[in-house]
Amino acid sequence: MDGDQKARIAASRKESQKSWRAATRAVRGGLKRSNFEETSEALFLTSGYVYPNAEEAEAAFAGTIDRLQYSRFGNPTVTMFEDRLAALEGAEACRATSTGMSAVFYALLSLLRAGDRVVAARQLFGSCHYIITELLPRFGIEHELVDGRDLDAWKKALSKPAKAVLFETPSNPTLDIVDIKAVTELAHAAGARVVLDNAFATPILQRPFEHGVDIVVHSATKYIDGQGRTLGGAILGPKKYILDELQPITRNTGPSLSPFNAWVMVKGLETLQLRVEKHCANAARVADELAAHPAVARVIYPGRKDHPQHALAMRQLSAPGGIVAFDLKAGKWAAFETLNRLRLVDISNNLGDAKSLITHPATTTHKRIGEVERAKLGIGDGLLRISVGLEDVEDIIEDLTQALAG
Ligand SMILES: *Cc1c(COP(=O)(O)O)cnc(C)c1O
Repeated sequence: MDGDQKARIAASRKESQKSWRAATRAVRGGLKRSNFEETSEALFLTSGYVYPNAEEAEAAFAGTIDRLQYSRFGNPTVTMFEDRLAALEGAEACRATSTGMSAVFYALLSLLRAGDRVVAARQLFGSCHYIITELLPRFGIEHELVDGRDLDAWKKALSKPAKAVLFETPSNPTLDIVDIKAVTELAHAAGARVVLDNAFATPILQRPFEHGVDIVVHSATKYIDGQGRTLGGAILGPKKYILDELQPITRNTGPSLSPFNAWVMVKGLETLQLRVEKHCANAARVADELAAHPAVARVIYPGRKDHPQHALAMRQLSAPGGIVAFDLKAGKWAAFETLNRLRLVDISNNLGDAKSLITHPATTTHKRIGEVERAKLGIGDGLLRISVGLEDVEDIIEDLTQALAG
């Protein structure tokens, strides 16, 4: 076969990628094979790259040629993960980060300067709350927290100029829903760009860019890894934003994802859809069983009709996710007793694992924010959050039932 023919085949294969559906993009998106023609994505565990001559090194640093220089700037395994996640999320570009928190932090850092104002939903992951209310103020960045469910509160907060808006939906742990489209419109009118934390929904269940969101962040530690092995994160958005605004900061300060973790995660994306579907199916069963249990005061699951924002949730999400929260009538004492009686479900503050994990937010993930803030969020002493795993759902339900029976 001559060179022309090879080039034609390569071009036609590349062309066909444009019409790939989500499941295909998850398995093949971003794949770049080395000259060994390996089937599976290669792990390039290297910090640096070599130049054939001094002139090429000079050209690389001058930016006149585009090539790998150093893994803080780029690494082929990390790039495969970034390109695959971008293809799934429907983003022009992606930069992977060492953790979900570095993704949130760097997204905000890239948008904000001293004197700017950020508006965020009060329903935030604990460490996001710290960044907004304690860390950014040190650099002269003002903030306002609003109830993410309350459009009037968003309207009021965004009647003044702002540069960034941050929220997660569904939120942790109370599974509150933010109206993505409505809040994004208000944010844009105020001059702000929207950063949405899509960790709970994953790109399988929720597609924020279709609602006008500017930047999506992920904790890839959760469902994208999916088996509780590695930490990682990602920032996705328009190419111009990633290259001009984000990349100079990340390259020079170094929140890079390790190639090994990127390799685990790029393989994780291949099974993301299958896993998320199963998590959702198991969670829906668990939510219904818990709702029928006499010890349970209330179950929070966006897929249930008794979720106060069920209609909005089902407009934005293709399925309600793998997390269920529930309140025990007898409070903290009963919550602790239940946790300590579990025989299969593990007590852990992580989530998105194949293993079912349960936590008591008031004394763990949301302890730092204090009692007053917890009360505003509806995180009571009897609240438990379960990340429903991939075990046989009958075993999960049997375990929860025997633990609640005590
Ligand atoms: C876990 C989590 C984070 C933080 O991610 P890490 O990978 O632990 O740094 C941020 N946002 C949400 C919604 C999360 O669940």
